[in-house]
Amino acid sequence: MLEQLQKMKQLPPLTMKQRVAHLKSLAKNIKANDEKIINAVSADFSHRCEQESQMAEIMVCIDEINHALKHIKQWTQTKTWHANWKFYPSKCAISPQPKGVVGIMAPWNYPFNLVIEPLVAAIAAGNRVMVKPSEITPKTAAVIKQLLSDVFSDDEVHVVLGDVEVANAFSKLPLDHILFTGSTQVGKIVMRNASENLTSLTLELGGKSPVLIDDDYSLKKAARSIVQGKWFNAGQTCIAPDYIMVSNSKKSDLIQAIKQQVEQCYPDYSDNKDYSAVVNHNHFERLNKLLEGLEPSQIISIGDKEGTDHSQKIAPTLVIDPNSSHPVMQQEIFGPILPIVTIENIDAAIQFINDRPNPLTLYLYSNNKHNIKKVRTQTRSGSLAINETLVHFAQEGLPFGGIGASGMGSYHGYQGFVAMSHMKSIYYQSRINFNGMVRAPYSQIKKKILSLLS
Ligand code: NAD
Repeated sequence: MLEQLQKMKQLPPLTMKQRVAHLKSLAKNIKANDEKIINAVSADFSHRCEQESQMAEIMVCIDEINHALKHIKQWTQTKTWHANWKFYPSKCAISPQPKGVVGIMAPWNYPFNLVIEPLVAAIAAGNRVMVKPSEITPKTAAVIKQLLSDVFSDDEVHVVLGDVEVANAFSKLPLDHILFTGSTQVGKIVMRNASENLTSLTLELGGKSPVLIDDDYSLKKAARSIVQGKWFNAGQTCIAPDYIMVSNSKKSDLIQAIKQQVEQCYPDYSDNKDYSAVVNHNHFERLNKLLEGLEPSQIISIGDKEGTDHSQKIAPTLVIDPNSSHPVMQQEIFGPILPIVTIENIDAAIQFINDRPNPLTLYLYSNNKHNIKKVRTQTRSGSLAINETLVHFAQEGLPFGGIGASGMGSYHGYQGFVAMSHMKSIYYQSRINFNGMVRAPYSQIKKKILSLLS
């Protein structure tokens, strides 16, 4: 790996012509291989709903490439920056420069997308790239390697396959930037490793994304949206609703509304092709274990358990009012289990959120402008999505990233380009130069000029 990196570091950045040609070819190859990609992801998961992969692995990647192609000329321009009037008539500029060789480390939950979207940003910015896909989805990783080698030379984009040890060694490489997507826990390890080389980082991490339902909001509408966001990919989404906060007076109606919506979307979940499996046996066990210590009356498992498909599927499950010290309220769930907690009012909900690590996304269902503003200004989260789940990820050019425990930095669109570039500042001294007026020795007149300028 190190030898390959050193070789890539000697090579020049990608030209504008190369960047555009590669991005176009990448889009073409993704479209031509969409079935192969979707099948590989499904094989890795033992079953992933085809339409979910179509949307989350293919469609958003193509949109991201098209957005980059549309704006790349504008992004890469050197922009004039006005010099401080005291230095008139000098000029300034900001010139984006590729960072060099960028490392991309991806998780398994959207194993194709979370390699390709960061790659688009890195290539648009002119970098060479080393990619480490997740070892948990090896079939998708093999397709990624093949597809990228059809588009890029090995010295432009190099794919490294291997286990956690390889991933650890990858994060110790003297790369010029790493975009890591994964858990907060591993993010800390990667940050520690990268610090040895002072490699800059974008950390796209996880955590618990809460949902807050205001009393004025239609429970039917909220349930429709929450069910879609929660059980898409069986809850294995970094921005999946992790738990719901609702007032006591609305709780039982909400439970009914969610049950009805789940039954409508995923009847007979175990045999249902629209319902994805849990990625592997370890995660299947982890999720089942997460329910330990709860009273049976707190657990509502929705749907038929007698299906014929015995793959790693877990029923859409609600957990009612778990204790806040229970693991289901302490760990990121990352699966089809959804706790519902009772909250007194909006202020108590804000306090509850602020007492915990900053979430990646906060979901708010409300039509009350005053409450929306209150939640927006009094909480901290990577993003705030109002009256809808997940789709903020797919908005072209909208920065995506966490804060604190949910991440550092952001990407998508121009923000991704900036994350993968060094914004080099340039100062042009004009021939007419008054700087001598404030150069030592500091005579009385110079002192006067300085005091006038201060
Ligand atoms: P993970 O942290 O276990 O693994 C992520 C990557 O880190 C993988 O490529 C893996 O090979 C590597 N890795 C694992 N152990 C390592 C180590 N000791 N040293 C260096 N590298 C190591 O995460 P995961 O289980 O693949 O994914 C789930 C997590 O990712 C969840 O927390 C989820 O919220 C988060 N996630 C975040 C986003 C986002 O955009 N913010 C998107 C998807 C997933």
